[in-house]
Amino acid sequence: MQFMRPRHRLFTAGIEVIAASRADRWLRNLARGLGIVLMFHHVRPRRDVAFAPNELLEITPEFLITVLAELRREGFDIIPIAAVPDRLRSNRRSRPFAVLTFDDGYRDNVEHAWPILKRFGAPWTIYVTTEFAGGRGQLWWLELEQAIARLDRIVISRNGEPLSLPSRTPNEKQDAFHAVYRQLRAGPMERLRTVTADLASQAGIISNCLAAEFCLSWDELRDLAREPDVTIGAHTLSHPVLAKLDTTAAAREIADSKTLLERRLGRPVRHFAYPFGDRLSAGAREFRLVRDSGFETAVTSRPGHLFSNHTDYLHSLPRVSINGLFQTRAALRTLFSGVPFLLWNRGRVAEIET
Ligand SMILES: [Zn+2]
Repeated sequence: MQFMRPRHRLFTAGIEVIAASRADRWLRNLARGLGIVLMFHHVRPRRDVAFAPNELLEITPEFLITVLAELRREGFDIIPIAAVPDRLRSNRRSRPFAVLTFDDGYRDNVEHAWPILKRFGAPWTIYVTTEFAGGRGQLWWLELEQAIARLDRIVISRNGEPLSLPSRTPNEKQDAFHAVYRQLRAGPMERLRTVTADLASQAGIISNCLAAEFCLSWDELRDLAREPDVTIGAHTLSHPVLAKLDTTAAAREIADSKTLLERRLGRPVRHFAYPFGDRLSAGAREFRLVRDSGFETAVTSRPGHLFSNHTDYLHSLPRVSINGLFQTRAALRTLFSGVPFLLWNRGRVAEIET
């Protein structure tokens, strides 16, 4: 999962401007890559709640249909992640390709997305965090949301001083969520986990209980792994910010998630997604660890299309996030054109990550 930073907000606002100017049409031949990897999280019916700070991480089943119909209309081949290296090497420009990826292992992907994906004959990949599959990991961003939804005041300590935030109205809750989130993301993983667990317990929520409710269990994943159109990839053991861990711990999160998934599912696991996946969460060290663990591909959440030179950077592939805040055809057309990434990458056609 990932959150919207100010730069993201600017970027997503730009999408609408590009669509309105029709720049996506006339710049497309320059900007569009050989293909795209789309990133999804939850797919479920819209919830009628005023405070939903994680809303950008969910789309409705109806919008997934729009995504698939638009890909089809634009002539994209939907291919499995395993086919990406060959497809990049072949450098075939006649038809672009799209890969559909779902992060974290949510049960709603099977319940709401899968029937639609089947109807379109679309292969898809789900990146599983193994602790969530065991029903015990900490979905801390959901715990934080639920805690703030229930509490009228949030108190955490900042540099030893108490930071007290009102959280009665939806606006106050939204501000409190982002303030706490920023604080926690800036500090060590351990603090992030303990502060969230503490707020959850103040709100009467038992920490580490949400995974069993929201995520697919090992039994469900074993059934899914037998499906020819489904690829199960790894997404670490506990969904940490890998860059915050020492090298031994980061290597363990990556390599052990592969081994554990393979043992539990009885098949090879060759593809990986970095938790959060932004620049501050995964960089050169993580890319190397993932490659050394024997993964064939790995996806980030750095935005962009795929170009032939990504053949040499298969462990730091960019993705295009399908953002729940912009569930419009105009946004899709713009993202599929590649034009926003020209702006994002300051004019460089392919931002190559090392
Ligand atoms: Zn994730």
